[in-house]
Amino acid sequence: MPETGFDVVIIGTGAGGGTMAHALASTSARVLLVERGDFVPQEPENWSPEAVWRDRRYRPRDERWIDDRRRLKRTFRPYTHYGVGGNTKFWGSALFRLRREDFEAVEHADGTSPAWPIKYEALAPFYDRAERLFQVHGEAGADPTDPPRGPFPCPPVPHAPRIAEIVEQLRSEGLHPAPLPLGLRDGCILCRTCNSFPCQLHAKSEADVCCVRPALTHANVTLWTNAFARRLDTDPSGTRVVSAEIERNGTAVTVHAPLFIVACGAVNSAALLLRSASAVHRNGLANSSGLVGARYMAHLATMISAFNRHRKNDTVFQKTVAVNDYYHAGPRTPHPLGQIQSQGRTQAVVLKSESPWYGRWIPLPAWEWWASGAVDWLVMSEDLPRPENRITIDSQGRIHLRYRQNNVASHQALVRETSRILKRLGFFTITHSLGTRNTTHQCGTLVFGDDPRTSVLDPFCRTHDVENLFVVDASFFPSSAAVNPGLTIVAQALRVADHIRDTCL
Ligand SMILES: Cc1cc2nc3c(=O)[nH]c(=O)nc-3n(C[C@H](O)[C@H](O)[C@H](O)COP(=O)(O)OP(=O)(O)OC[C@H]3O[C@@H](n4cnc5c(N)ncnc54)[C@H](O)[C@@H]3O)c2cc1C
Ligand code: SF4
Repeated sequence: MPETGFDVVIIGTGAGGGTMAHALASTSARVLLVERGDFVPQEPENWSPEAVWRDRRYRPRDERWIDDRRRLKRTFRPYTHYGVGGNTKFWGSALFRLRREDFEAVEHADGTSPAWPIKYEALAPFYDRAERLFQVHGEAGADPTDPPRGPFPCPPVPHAPRIAEIVEQLRSEGLHPAPLPLGLRDGCILCRTCNSFPCQLHAKSEADVCCVRPALTHANVTLWTNAFARRLDTDPSGTRVVSAEIERNGTAVTVHAPLFIVACGAVNSAALLLRSASAVHRNGLANSSGLVGARYMAHLATMISAFNRHRKNDTVFQKTVAVNDYYHAGPRTPHPLGQIQSQGRTQAVVLKSESPWYGRWIPLPAWEWWASGAVDWLVMSEDLPRPENRITIDSQGRIHLRYRQNNVASHQALVRETSRILKRLGFFTITHSLGTRNTTHQCGTLVFGDDPRTSVLDPFCRTHDVENLFVVDASFFPSSAAVNPGLTIVAQALRVADHIRDTCL
């Protein structure tokens, strides 16, 4: 029997889908949330580096994507999570607004970062709401690249003594380190297992605890877990989705509803639309532009482990500082380089598990010695949208990723500059990058814009081709900027939710 008792079906419960559910919960609409994974259990393993990094306990076991760059088309296990809250359960909760300039076209060494169809001012009030919803801590005015804004809802997280010392050293280098904007809730004990770990205390601001659970206290919101959306079907004209085919606990269910909101993450939302090809949408649903799956971006990211053999690092919570001095231009170039931020403490097991093959032969105590003196940094640069960087699916529905990084010279310049600075501060540095397989900041596969020929979604994230289909995850980004994407996904989901309330419900 088809299910018909819902007004809105939201597919995916991460940053976009969870926020949308929270925003629509207070309406009279009967909302169904469809999530392929389950709740992440609260258990001691949440904070175990062995469970999270060595055993990959919370990553989908059977998920393999195909790397299309090579002739051999090797498969890889993507760095992603399926469960209530999506990837936000594991994020580092660094919740940045895009810089005002990110909404404009910006010239990079490797090409143009395109303009967004909306300006910063259109999103600013929703950033305010997003920061309140996710309890973001920070200090307005401390970061010279911040867009115009009022105070943060919560005060900045104080630096640990060793980090405060490094911040002063960075200032004496002429830089402007600022408190990292962080989403943390009451009860946070500022532990050393935050970024990439689920919070055992539910004190991290993420979509499960901030959005989905509060939404479920409303009688009009229903959640199906272990429910995988296989495809969406339209009426014969192809202009309205009429139903979703869901595999729920192994059983096929068809859900009919007047409104569908897809929020599966940039890769899986594109894959869902491509799998939903039909006689009227031959190349995939809502794909008259041919851009569904195209323009995939993921940030260029390098971890720098800075070691000082004369100083132990006794910091527990280290992720408190951001340096944006090279965001708009580098010290030796007029082009943008990107952002530097301190990271959570990298533990010995993580260093060993993530090192190249030869590093895995190094005994754990040696890694422990290194980790005890290391301060960890993340260096991140903008990835530019290229049509040839794209997601496709094959006849068996498997996901293929064809992706070559660009803007590499700028990223390398930022890594070199950061290493130079850290050396002047007395550190020896080693770098590590997941390269093209780092799918954590995936975005851009269903770009939003005014022109249906050059975009998939309109500026309110409704598909140009299908009138009752919206997408509210990281897919809509026309450019990736160089700050973490989460808060922008949340802010746009809130903006779209208001639009849906006003026009569809
Ligand atoms: C380790 C890590 C650290 C990060 N740190 C930060 C950070 O500090 N700051 C920041 O801003 N960003 C961070 N990110 C990135 C951030 O988590 C993502 O940008 C964000 O979660 C993307 O939101 P989304 O709504 O697009 O997708 P997701 O949050 O991934 O949600 C997608 C949801 O859809 C579900 N789903 C997928 N396919 C289907 C289907 N077919 N049927 C049903 N359900 C489906 C998934 O299970 C998931 O729940 C981090 C990511 C990771 C992995
Ligand atoms: S730092 Fe706070 S929010 Fe993060 S995992 Fe630890 S207790 Fe949870």
